[in-house]
Order: sequence, then structure tokens, then C-alpha cells
Amino acid sequence: MEQCLFCRIVAGEIPAEIVHRDENVVVFRDINPQAPVHLLAIPTKHIARLTQPEAADGAMLSQIFSVIQKMATIEGLDEGFRVVTNCGDNAGQTVHHLHFHILGKRCLSWPPG
Ligand code: AMP
Repeated sequence: MEQCLFCRIVAGEIPAEIVHRDENVVVFRDINPQAPVHLLAIPTKHIARLTQPEAADGAMLSQIFSVIQKMATIEGLDEGFRVVTNCGDNAGQTVHHLHFHILGKRCLSWPPG
């Protein structure tokens, strides 16, 4: 997946403000933040979207959510935060590498647009 933007961030070919990295998960700050805290949590493995993982990826998805919990604590999001994944064109997914937005430090309206 040489052309995938987020694979290139994982590989260190494109700079990003990385705040967490382990074998399976990378978290970095969104380049166009929609809240004072806006992080993206991604698998290091290329998976296009939420509907693509295989059964074998369950452990990785579980690990991503553990990392998200940890990042929420580190970023001081104790008053609330939102985790979003846009899956497919109708949801507005623009980067086709699974990612979870972590948004916090402001009041977030509901429903989203
Ligand atoms: P989505 O629209 O859900 O696919 O989200 C893609 C997100 O990736 C957007 O919020 C973009 O601002 C973000 N993004 C795109 N390029 C970069 C980059 N080079 N570094 C960090 N975030 C990026």
C-alpha cells in the first residue's frame, strides 16, 4: 500500500505529530483539527475501513480501543470526548485506511452532520 497516506505516516515517510506508537497502533494529531484535541488512532496494518477487518484483526481492534482510553487520560479528556470512524463515501471517509477520530476539549453537538 505504497500510496496510502496513513501507511506512509506509519513508515515515517510523511511527517506527523505522533503521540503513541507500538507494533499495532499509531496515534497522531489530525492536520486539520476539528476540536482542541483531535487525534487519529490507526492500525499499523493497512485496513481500508471498519467493514474490512478479518476475524484475526479482533485483537488489534481491541488494542486500538485500549490505546484510545489511554490517550483520553493523557490528553485530559475527563469531561467527555467522542470517537468516530467514517466508513465509506456516504460517511465522508476521505482516507481509505481505517482510523478513529478522537475529539475532545470542546462541547460536541449531536446529531453530527
Ligand atoms: P476521514 O475524512 O474520516 O477519512 O478523515 C481523514 C482525516 O485525516 C481528516 O480529518 C484529515 O484532516 C486527516 N489528515 C489528512 N492528511 C493528514 C496528515 N498528513 N496528517 C494528519 N492528518 C491528516
